[in-house]
Order: sequence, then structure tokens, then C-alpha cells
Amino acid sequence: LVEISGVSKSYGPHEVLHDIDLTIEPGEVVALLGPSGSGKSTLLRAINHLESVDRGSVTIDGQYIGYERRGDKLYELHEKEVLKRRTQVGMVFQNFNLFPHLTAIENIVEAPIALGRLSKTDARELALGLLARVGLSDKADHYPRQLSGGQQQRVAIARALALKPKVLLFDEPTSALDPELVGEVLAVIGELTKLGTTLVIVTHEIGFAREVADRVVFLDGGRVLEQGTPARVLLHPQHPRTQDFLRKVL
Ligand code: ATP
Ligand code: MG
Repeated sequence: LVEISGVSKSYGPHEVLHDIDLTIEPGEVVALLGPSGSGKSTLLRAINHLESVDRGSVTIDGQYIGYERRGDKLYELHEKEVLKRRTQVGMVFQNFNLFPHLTAIENIVEAPIALGRLSKTDARELALGLLARVGLSDKADHYPRQLSGGQQQRVAIARALALKPKVLLFDEPTSALDPELVGEVLAVIGELTKLGTTLVIVTHEIGFAREVADRVVFLDGGRVLEQGTPARVLLHPQHPRTQDFLRKVL
């Protein structure tokens, strides 16, 4: 479903991603682990073209998000087309990123209505269903500031689902939360994994990764150092740097 092929990316002289190859199958749950600065966020952002790449390519269902192939050359697409293609990917950030001036339900219906996908009535109905799924039926008309961090993040997940993306990307979705609020957000993500959602999650919640991931990918210095089943990578890491990382986070 997601095909990352030979992706490299530098900021100035600093190469942040180095020749990354990664294929994500439909319905697969991939946990992306690695130390701070290893390139996890950059890789996620490259998947939906929030970040351009210097070399290599990313396709979703065979389609580029930011480019178009003509002959053997890639051409950068117009912003409007990029935004349209990007809706195939849902992204949830560490800091929720809800629109502060919109209520929970308004946050969710905004994109489907703006993109002309749904009428106001249909969007509202969809949003109410999604709010129920994340356990927030009673908070539809609350503004983000009236919600706890865990509730805000659950609204952000509902918002990401509203466009029915082919793949969901989570970048440390629980890192900004008070410890007692982590569980409710992980529970919602855990439910998604059971529904066959294709999902990539950057997380330091090793126990959660072990429980829900089909595959763990360990990134270090912009390279995939090792990958495999959670049991293999988390319990029997081969690479010294993976061993070192796991010792620190466990
Ligand atoms: P963390 O666990 O701290 O979130 P990460 O694995 O997500 O780290 P990235 O955010 O992908 O790491 O960053 C990888 C490297 O790229 C870091 O060294 C970072 O300083 C650098 N970097 C990221 N974004 C930029 C940018 N816009 N300009 C310059 N350097 C950047
Ligand atoms: Mg990051």
C-alpha cells in the first residue's frame, strides 16, 4: 500500500534520511522506533509529502502524493492537487493540532465539507458516529480548551478518520499527555488496529507496540537498522544500537 523506495533527505549538509526502503502492506500496523533525531518524524512527513525528499520516492496505492510521472521524469504537482492526494493519508500529531476556534464536531466536519466530499448533514452524521467511536459523544460542542489532552487527541483521531484515509500516521500521539491520559488514547488506537486499519505509529510506548504492531522498524541515524516482528525486534534485538535504545526506554 505504501511504497517507500530509496528515500534520502538532507537539511543542509546533514543527511536525515539515508536511502530508506520500506513497504507497508494493506492492514499492516507498523511501529516506528528510534532515538531522538533518528528521522522518525521526517519519514512520516515524507509519506504524505509534508516534507519533500531529495532522492527516491513514496507512493500510496501506486500514486505519488507530491509528484506526477511523465515519461521517466517526476514533476512537482500543484499545491491543490497535492492537498487532494494527501487526503489519502490521515495524520495525528503529538500536540493534537486541533483548530482552537472550532468545536470538536466542527473540527471533524471541516475537511469533508471544505473538500466537497459530504453535505453538512452527512458530515455531521459521520462526525457524530466518529465521536461515539472515540468515546466522546457528549463532547461534540466543546472547544479544544474545554477538553483534556486525551480528549483532544481522540478528537484529532476522529478528525483524521473523517476523510477515510488509506493509511493513518501517528507521530508520538501520547507523548504530550499526562500519564493517566495515555491509556484512553492507546485504547482508541488499539481499536483501530483491530479493524484492519493500515497504520504507522511512532511511539515510545514499547508495551503498546508489542501488543498491536505486526512489525517493528528501528530507525537510527536516518537508516533502518533492523525490522521484524515485535517479538523478534523488542525481545531479541540483533543490533547493539537497538539493544541500547530498548534498555533506555524500557
Ligand atoms: P524525535 O524523537 O526527537 O521526535 P525524530 O526521530 O522524529 O526525533 P526528526 O524530527 O525526523 O527526528 O529529525 C531528524 C533530524 O533532522 C534531527 O537531527 C533534526 O534536528 C533535523 N531536522 C528536522 N527538521 C528539520 C528542519 N526543518 N530543518 C533542519 N533540520 C531539521
Ligand atoms: Mg519526531
